Amino acid sequence: MRSATILLVSPAASLLAGCIGTNFNLATQRQEYSITSTAKEVEVGRKLAAQVERELTLVQDEPMQERVRQIGQRLAAVCDRRELVYSFAVVKDDEANAFSLPGGYVFVNEGLVKLAANDDELAGVIAHEIGHVTARHAVKRFESQLGVQLIQLASLAAARQGPAPQGVGITAQSLQLAYARQDELEADQLAVKYTKAAGYDPNAILKFLDKMHDEDRKRTHYMPGGVVRPNYAMTHPFVPERRRAVKEALFGVADYMDYLNSPQ
Ligand SMILES: [Zn+2]
Repeated sequence: MRSATILLVSPAASLLAGCIGTNFNLATQRQEYSITSTAKEVEVGRKLAAQVERELTLVQDEPMQERVRQIGQRLAAVCDRRELVYSFAVVKDDEANAFSLPGGYVFVNEGLVKLAANDDELAGVIAHEIGHVTARHAVKRFESQLGVQLIQLASLAAARQGPAPQGVGITAQSLQLAYARQDELEADQLAVKYTKAAGYDPNAILKFLDKMHDEDRKRTHYMPGGVVRPNYAMTHPFVPERRRAVKEALFGVADYMDYLNSPQ
């Protein structure tokens, strides 16, 4: 965690090392500049994933883990960054949520696996998280000022000695903050592309989006001590616009209600 902090909050050090790179990103179809090489992204992702696994509990249900791994690998095999080694794990948490880390680490909560009616719905969520990785959204976020703040928060948590009941999970939670609206829409459109390519039904993305939206409204998200759990609506806002983006990717056009509901 410490070395990740130094790496990410010191762009000057990276500049000194001559690390500004440019490459054409297949997922976003754009030429992109970055101070983070793929090797560094993977290194940081691995450290963050280890931190997450220390703070959160993985589900001791091998068939469930295997199901998520198999769906994930089928999608990873057709995605835009096949050079990464993806890993998929189910976290013991009833909240229907999922998140990804740089380098290809995807975590899905048990609550989300149970809420999904079938593999198609689960594939839609996993493909969305893979989309964040292939479009390098987390890397871009870490390179931004918000990323710096997140990592400072994370290092603060890591610096604490001994058990800190209410503090536990702060790093994992801080890693689950919302992406920018544009990132969410891009991840959805990539999810349509990857689910289609892998032979899943991309229409399930819309169905599950609505289902999770309803689920969030039914539940409260406060833990003792005033800590707010990161629920799906918090980490994945902009549902009306996301519906529109998914429909455009699916059918080439969104319907009139989606335009009315999108604040654009
Ligand atoms: Zn997302």
